[in-house]
Amino acid sequence: MSSSHLSSSAGTAARVVSFEVARHLVEQHAIGVCPGAVETVDLLAGLGRVLAEEMVADRDFPPFARATRDGYAVRAADLAVVPARLEVVGEVKAGDWPDPAQCSVGRGQAVGIMTGAPLPAEADAVVMVEHTSVGQTSVPQSPHPNVAKNATLGWGTLGSATLGQRSVEVQRSVSAGENFVPRGAEARAGQRLLDRGRRLDHAGIAIAASVGKSRVQVFKKPRVAVLSTGDEVVEIDATPGPAQIRNSNSYSLAAQVQNAGGEAVRLGIAPDERGRLRALIEEGLGCDLLLLTGGVSMGKYDLVEQVLGELKAEFYFTGAEIQPGRPVVFGSYGAGATGEGTRAGAPALDKKYFFGLPGNPVSTMVTFELFARPMIEALAGMTPRGLVFLRARLKSEIRTKTGLKRFLPAVLSGEFENAEVELARWQGSGDVAALAQANCYVVIPPERERIEAGEWVPLLMR
Ligand code: AMP
Ligand code: MG
Repeated sequence: MSSSHLSSSAGTAARVVSFEVARHLVEQHAIGVCPGAVETVDLLAGLGRVLAEEMVADRDFPPFARATRDGYAVRAADLAVVPARLEVVGEVKAGDWPDPAQCSVGRGQAVGIMTGAPLPAEADAVVMVEHTSVGQTSVPQSPHPNVAKNATLGWGTLGSATLGQRSVEVQRSVSAGENFVPRGAEARAGQRLLDRGRRLDHAGIAIAASVGKSRVQVFKKPRVAVLSTGDEVVEIDATPGPAQIRNSNSYSLAAQVQNAGGEAVRLGIAPDERGRLRALIEEGLGCDLLLLTGGVSMGKYDLVEQVLGELKAEFYFTGAEIQPGRPVVFGSYGAGATGEGTRAGAPALDKKYFFGLPGNPVSTMVTFELFARPMIEALAGMTPRGLVFLRARLKSEIRTKTGLKRFLPAVLSGEFENAEVELARWQGSGDVAALAQANCYVVIPPERERIEAGEWVPLLMR
């Protein structure tokens, strides 16, 4: 990776970049961070955690040729001409292990078989029971399988033993290989099924369970300091004065940190005063990542960048061409934060990254999702992934101004294939009530000022 991708500004010189450049800068730095120590947890406690070990198939999957239908194991060649009558020589149900000496399918023979049971020797296909019948005469096939289930089932009453019926009539031919999965077709013993760095979801839990892992190795969660700033901001259990605002950002951020796989460490509220702000920033830099909110705009008392500058922090960007969230700041502090010499992948010993997120609650939430999340995921050990936007049809026209990439709170509704999206009514980046009603953001490119109803628009899901 070239150093130009990771270049930074010395001190607090403004560096406002496009959304894409800002996002890529974060991603490139995230590649170089090291996850924490490894711990072993019970499988279900691993839900949402990041795997520190691979999941490897401990045997072939499936471990035997597995029937995928209830019916008869047959030789496909015997059914070249149908209807055909086959001699029933046995039955295998799920959990049985068919002994080839007693239960193999010779020419003109069939073995009753249930879904999940091993295919007996010499069989090369399974014919569905719906396409068979017992008795002396050929029964016309019902067009509906549920009707067939009751009327023409090839083993008479559902669940009764097949043996003793001696023969079955098959109405449809099958191809060799039909209706069973060969041994090892899904995975071979020793094959990697899940990579290290994968966040465990229910499908990952299923894999772990399938290979017999009742405990899994995961990375320790990164500790993410959350520091709110502002003289007007008070704790949530205080009664706010007439000009005061409750500290919602520390809590929304803590929730987002947890969602992203981190552990939030709330450091409280820093006043708009250098000394105390600096002390709390230094405390926050003791964690794996520091998130600040507020104090990054152009106001006289927006001191966050100044104080970080005094600490000789390095800034990769001090603004992004987005709305909400334009004043967002990304930088690092400490050993390794040496400007042009910094390389992703280089030892990041005491180097700590920080984000200065704008204080408006919606700006805080959006900039977290766009920029802080990938860094937290990387610190949590996750393999990086690109940000993708889904699309939905716009319900009513949007008019806006050009110049910034916009992430506007919106409501996705409709049903099934008919999703449609509409902007939430909001009063700007401070309107947390509007955001709570929204369930996504419509993404508007900087060059668009009008988007017609009916157009497919990109969405950032929330
Ligand atoms: P700032 O980014 O410091 O200029 O703050 C922008 C707006 O966000 C102001 O209206 C602040 O009162 C508000 N704000 C800042 N910090 C918080 C916070 N922790 N919780 C809720 N609102 C905040
Ligand atoms: Mg402020």
